[in-house]
Amino acid sequence: MLMKKSSIFLIIVAIVVLIGAAAAGVVLSKNNGDNNDRETVTVTMGWEAEIIEDIAGDDFNVEVMLPAGTSPHVVYSTPSNVANLYNSAVYFEVGTDVEWEVAFLEDVKEDIPDSVEIVNLSESIAYVGMMSEEYGEGDEYDAHIWTSPEYLTEMAKVIEEKLTALNPDHAGEYAAGLEGYTAAAEKVGDAMQALADRYTTSTAESPYVVMVWHPAWVYFLQQYAADYSIYFDMVSVESNGDVTADKAIEIIENNNGSAIFVSGFDEGSTDAVKEVMEKNGITVYTIDPTSENMLAALTEFIGDLDGYLGDLTATSSE
Ligand SMILES: [Zn+2]
Repeated sequence: MLMKKSSIFLIIVAIVVLIGAAAAGVVLSKNNGDNNDRETVTVTMGWEAEIIEDIAGDDFNVEVMLPAGTSPHVVYSTPSNVANLYNSAVYFEVGTDVEWEVAFLEDVKEDIPDSVEIVNLSESIAYVGMMSEEYGEGDEYDAHIWTSPEYLTEMAKVIEEKLTALNPDHAGEYAAGLEGYTAAAEKVGDAMQALADRYTTSTAESPYVVMVWHPAWVYFLQQYAADYSIYFDMVSVESNGDVTADKAIEIIENNNGSAIFVSGFDEGSTDAVKEVMEKNGITVYTIDPTSENMLAALTEFIGDLDGYLGDLTATSSE
């Protein structure tokens, strides 16, 4: 009798689970664009989705393969929404050989139907590659071009052209959207200019040293900033591989540093490591190179740099 009751219970559980799965399936297929004529476009990172939304509003169903706050470098597994890529009109790859994307495309290339146009964002723009600090002395170019507002704007242009080709009736809206994005990017330039006006003592030969955990910011700090005549040297504590908190502190102190900029996904932002660094008098700023709103993240970074340079120049004039 007892046995029977429990097996009835199990059957009921199984039925409930099946009904739940069927219901979830219905909801999922609705979200995947069956409910209207929206075409799907797929991107690797969240900031690309933001550009598309700034340009085209919700005209397209945008699939992001790499969730925000995830390092695009090492860890890779096939994303659960990969099937949506196969139904896409376009896949916008960043194209700078960032490891996740290389592994992803290698993995799924065979399965992507010909109907999906793959657009390489970096191939179509005139970006000046900088050498990678990531793995020490390598001769590879740094992948993080999206930390430069200049390159973001150029990639937005490529995206706008493609979206206009997909939906020519909305050409005017998309042109206006691109203008809006470009204006927002120029505001970051204004903030950088204001910073350069406040801190005038750096030169290309004698830059301000900015310690970072993950070396994601070379295009922003060393290339873009130089356009505004403010010069930074980005020094990464993990450029030669993983480091402990103690090792990081040693590297920071060897560079006469008292602050470090960490990314949300790296070792340096974990509470334990942060605490050790802060106990040693190091100011820890958190910035996000995978932010869905890169322009906002960059503006925040400039605000942090203002604080950092304020301390730095106050200390050096003592
Ligand atoms: Zn990175």
